Amino acid sequence: MRTARELWIDEKARRAGHENGAALASSHGFKKYRAEQLYRAATKELAEDLDAITTLPKELRAALAAEGFALDSIEPVVVQRSNDKQTTKGLFRLHDGNEVEAVLMEHHGGRNTVCISSQAGCAYACTFCATGQAGFTRNLAATEIFDQARYFAKQLAREGRKITNVVFMGMGEPFANYENVMGAVALLNDPNGFGLGHRHITISTVGLVDKIDRFAAEQTQVNLAISLHAPSDATRSAIMPVNRKFSTTALMDAVARYIAETNRKVFFEYVMLAGVNDSDEHARELARLMKSSLYHVNLIPYNSTPDALLRGSDEQRIWAFAKILEQQRVAVTVRTPMGRDIAAACGQLRAETQPRAKAS
Ligand code: SAH
Repeated sequence: MRTARELWIDEKARRAGHENGAALASSHGFKKYRAEQLYRAATKELAEDLDAITTLPKELRAALAAEGFALDSIEPVVVQRSNDKQTTKGLFRLHDGNEVEAVLMEHHGGRNTVCISSQAGCAYACTFCATGQAGFTRNLAATEIFDQARYFAKQLAREGRKITNVVFMGMGEPFANYENVMGAVALLNDPNGFGLGHRHITISTVGLVDKIDRFAAEQTQVNLAISLHAPSDATRSAIMPVNRKFSTTALMDAVARYIAETNRKVFFEYVMLAGVNDSDEHARELARLMKSSLYHVNLIPYNSTPDALLRGSDEQRIWAFAKILEQQRVAVTVRTPMGRDIAAACGQLRAETQPRAKAS
């Protein structure tokens, strides 16, 4: 298997027109440790750009830059900050003009979570999600995913701060881009590079059963979150087309296998939609599915999206729903929405239609 460094240098080399990292090195006549220097500068030292790597000979930096080698594979186009300053959203352009968004959340208490995208668009068409309404364009490469975290890490580093958590909850379905997402996880985790512990990374999936099995077999400490959003097939199929391929029962069976294999906690996301999935009966049905003490339900207040004809449940309903779960001894929390004023909250990422005029 390729190391994280080899993956990084291969992808960056390809962007600059070489077959791989070895071809890049031989074309410029540099030794292996130069590739290591580049990698460490980008991922561990968080160098701003090629020119900031003063340990590299100036001529080499110039030669690399001349053929388009760059530390970053994404370019920030618009960066917006929420009124309370806690949420920052970046719109990034990829080399082929596609765009994705990523969000930094600076929580009280010092946690800094980055929410990153794994695909440009999404093919799963959940009715409540802005990304799903816009359709699918392409998978991101591992470095295109990693560089979203790198962007915010660079920003925080200027103030002596760090990213503490990364969640794959931006645009796209991470398990539909499995290899590249695992590549990005390797880049985030590498102790000789970015150095973020597996336990501080969470992957959220729409519920691809075969990939949940594959993920269980990896035996990693990366957290798994499941977008459940309904306790039965009728309700789930109405809002999540993927349920027609992988039924709620098949999904819950896969999660049970994952737990048997890993003994790790699983987070179930449940977006609260008025009159759709938020009745007392839905809560009781959901409680019946939450059989393991390792299951944790996260109720998400609905964030409005441009096209959906849906309304979120009001606060009272959300807490009444949570109470029923608690009475059945289900572990439950209610997610605090962040960044709604800049359309940066869960399900609101939709790069194509960002109003450029609002750039700040
Ligand atoms: N494709 C992955 C990641 C999606 S985004 C997945 O399906 O899990 C992360 C979470 O935000 C998912 O649980 C998703 O269902 C939820 N979400 C999508 N649209 C939302 C909205 N409008 N309001 C609140 N949460 C939403």
